[in-house]
Amino acid sequence: MGWEGAGCGGGGGVVMGVRVVCVAQEGKGVGTGHRVRMERLAEGLRKEGVEAGVRVWDGGRWEGEGGEVVWVVDVRRSERGWVRALKEEGVVVALDPDPVLAREADVVLAGLPQAHRERVNVRVAPVWWEVPRREGRGREIRRVLVSFGGEDPWGLTEWVCGLDGGVWGGCEVEVVVGPRFGREVRTGWRVVRPSGPLHERLGDYDLVITSFGLTAYEARKAGVGVLLLNPTAYHAGLGRRAGFAGGRPGRGWVRLLGRVLRGGEEGVWGEGVGGRSAVEVVRGVVEGWGGVGCPGCGERGRRAVWRGEERTVVRCAGCGLEYVLGLGPAEREYGPDYFFEEYRAQYGRTYLEDFASIVERGRERVQVLRRWVPEGGRVLDVGCAYGPFLVAAREGGYVPAGLDVGEDAVAYVRQELGVWAWVGRFEEWEEEGEWDALTMWFVIEHFRRLSEVLDKVARLLKKGGMFAFGTPNARGLSWLLRRDRFYRESPRDHHLLLSVGVVRRLLGRWGMKVVAVRQTGLHPERIPVLGRLFPPGTLRWRITGRLLGLLGLGDTIEIYAKKYG
Ligand SMILES: [Zn+2]
Repeated sequence: MGWEGAGCGGGGGVVMGVRVVCVAQEGKGVGTGHRVRMERLAEGLRKEGVEAGVRVWDGGRWEGEGGEVVWVVDVRRSERGWVRALKEEGVVVALDPDPVLAREADVVLAGLPQAHRERVNVRVAPVWWEVPRREGRGREIRRVLVSFGGEDPWGLTEWVCGLDGGVWGGCEVEVVVGPRFGREVRTGWRVVRPSGPLHERLGDYDLVITSFGLTAYEARKAGVGVLLLNPTAYHAGLGRRAGFAGGRPGRGWVRLLGRVLRGGEEGVWGEGVGGRSAVEVVRGVVEGWGGVGCPGCGERGRRAVWRGEERTVVRCAGCGLEYVLGLGPAEREYGPDYFFEEYRAQYGRTYLEDFASIVERGRERVQVLRRWVPEGGRVLDVGCAYGPFLVAAREGGYVPAGLDVGEDAVAYVRQELGVWAWVGRFEEWEEEGEWDALTMWFVIEHFRRLSEVLDKVARLLKKGGMFAFGTPNARGLSWLLRRDRFYRESPRDHHLLLSVGVVRRLLGRWGMKVVAVRQTGLHPERIPVLGRLFPPGTLRWRITGRLLGLLGLGDTIEIYAKKYG
């Protein structure tokens, strides 16, 4: 078994040296389709310059890869312990998973209709590879292919071959005997033993008789008629939901076959096969790669709490931090566009138009800080943007300085506000020195490596210095009322979803103690029913707002922590 295809990567390592390992299952009762599909996925990824290979899991002992891996798992029978071992090494992407895998995987892709209802990230096309088309023969059926996969454990091939010759009405029938049949099939029909991929030849036929699975979709994509003969009620249900004509072995099915051959069954002619390519989606997971382990504590155990088109939110089993596994590149620019066009799109006015009200909020924050940081203290505002907090801090008697990735913003701070500021990313910033306070207003959730950020915060702060930041509250009212919407609407560039309890635990590891929490972003009007009774601005609305604050249900929070030791 082991690694196949490593090193064959065309151009390999184009995407940061993260490896994709496609895991398939084989053996009795599993069929060969899953392995075929994983081989096609690995092949498609290698063509895109992603290092990818296939491994087969037989349910036995499993050796890890010893590196950073995106696993794509296509198995019929998984085990919880095994999936957790995979998660230790990387992101687990499950394609059409069983219920165990559907719960444990980070990312779930569905190509086939699901038999169970776990949340799916992306619906992908069941067949994303090219299939040569049947052309120019209308709906006439002359050539029929009977194919029940590489193994046919139910003996459907024999059942079809045993039908009375008269039912075929003069058609030419060919029968596939797969590589894992392990038996001979006695038939008067021509036997095909495919040496290459069967899908390349499907377009030569007019009708394919198969059970629910990849061949059915490949035939549909080839524009060939498809009639299913399903071994179990489970397969029959999936086939029906996918819109295929067919049934289970019996007299009813034979009558159906008769109607099909006489041209009386429109249902065998499907509409083609749509959906996104799994190659493209998995490539996105590789591009969204943020390393293995919790950004806060490094623990690798985690559980998906929400899955969507663009990302999965997982909760760390160690510290409880919720963080994002992206299904695409996450880096973005915070240039002038961010503060002008995008800000306006989101808040209805530009950042600078909003400047005065942000300064006002800054004044409140300075008042809180003054409990611990005396006048004259040096305050570094990380992600200072155009400097509203710097203005408030200077007014409040501090000596402020700013740091931001935006060159325009930093130039504005220096020239228009006359405050010292640097251009740069905090993680890479090389200026050192000792600060009385470090502040980050709605910045911390954008970092991917929280532990590196906190290392630096702890290093830059004086003993007794304050770390203060604001961030969306992942346990606020919006989360409580509409969890699905809360996660779906969390901005794409937020990698961390923080809450007070998690922050307390994490900061403790860096020698910081939370000394004050402010609940902000209080929105009583979001409470169903009450919202209508208590319109914004009324006394009842204000009282309810206070109550939400006491309950810790602000949609944003401000944390003030003191460095000890
Ligand atoms: Zn953690």
